[in-house]
Amino acid sequence: MRPARTAVPPLPVSAQVAPALLAWFRAHRRPLPWRADRDPYRRWVAEVLLQQTRVAQATPYFERFTERFPTLEVLARASPEEVLKAWQGAGYYARARHLHEAARQVVRDRAGRLPTTVAEWEELPGVGPYMARALTSLLSGSPVVALEANGVRVAARWTREEGDTDSARVRRRLVEALERVLPAEAAGEFNEALMELGETTCRPVAPSCPECPVQFGCRAAHELSDPSVLPRRSRARPRPHVRAAVVVLEQDGRWLVQRRPRVGFLGGLWEFPGGKVERGESPRKAAVRELREETGVRAPPLRPVAVVRHAYSHFSVELHVFRGTLPAGRRPDLAEGRRWVTPATFARLPIPKATEKIVHGLGAGTASRGSGSRPGRTRPGPSAAGGRRPARPPARGRPA
Ligand code: SF4
Repeated sequence: MRPARTAVPPLPVSAQVAPALLAWFRAHRRPLPWRADRDPYRRWVAEVLLQQTRVAQATPYFERFTERFPTLEVLARASPEEVLKAWQGAGYYARARHLHEAARQVVRDRAGRLPTTVAEWEELPGVGPYMARALTSLLSGSPVVALEANGVRVAARWTREEGDTDSARVRRRLVEALERVLPAEAAGEFNEALMELGETTCRPVAPSCPECPVQFGCRAAHELSDPSVLPRRSRARPRPHVRAAVVVLEQDGRWLVQRRPRVGFLGGLWEFPGGKVERGESPRKAAVRELREETGVRAPPLRPVAVVRHAYSHFSVELHVFRGTLPAGRRPDLAEGRRWVTPATFARLPIPKATEKIVHGLGAGTASRGSGSRPGRTRPGPSAAGGRRPARPPARGRPA
């Protein structure tokens, strides 16, 4: 039962909590690939991937990415398209673009030497306050607290913080509470342990309090019948739903594809033409109109082949996929960023994961599920894309 909300002031964290947490972490930490060595570049890549993505989901992408780009220098020399292709499927593609730009900047301006302070890290593209603090504590041993979504949740429960954890004032209060118990000689490990506890034990729903190594110091566990009511957050807004039409246009065994704008949601990825179905418009009419507006090509007869549904972090989409064939002969002129490609070439370009599923569905001749094509030009993508920082601390565990 949800207890009544009270104005209980948060209490300091017990001094015994940090040693107990560290002892638990040293005994139980998961053998993750970026923990196998102390390569700072690999830790950086891992931190970037872990923003917005759970450990289990991020691990295969980490292995693929670091196998393709084993060092900072190799990454810096790569083309943007190679980087996006290696990131394909991990989602939130702005992270990859920023990591690439930052690697180039470090090689060009710092002779490959990674930053060592929070301020230096924050000068790099895509590195916000959390990541700068996490990397500084992990790689340089500096005594700073780094709080992402897991850490916020754990700290809010330890201190019984009843304020809105989306507010900067409340987050500052949590950081200050942790700073008082932060072990200066093991700050990076403490930050990692906090995240690990949040991801494995102090989960958002149904935390495993009886197995928790720091239950003795947790106010929420002692004072609330259900500790999972914390942290309090502002009410989530309903997720909008978008209908869109996508056209798979073929000619002589090739598909007409286009690259999304380099900055923004799914920036720089390739997809089929299409866009939002307007109010009162049928998906077929939208397909014809979008193809004309985006590429200048007059649509041949189109046949529906699939309806693909997908949920992004802040909106859901249903894509009505149509297929048509232009007669052999002269190809219409195309603007920059649009190409006719064979399916084999398309498979080598960076494409959204769901566009990959659409292609798979086309090959199988059946409808597929999943999406990634552009849902509409009027709606911006997830906040992580386009370089803006989320208002909340970085989450680990949202679907990419
Ligand atoms: S005792 Fe429960 S609520 Fe408190 S930190 Fe541990 S798992 Fe979380």
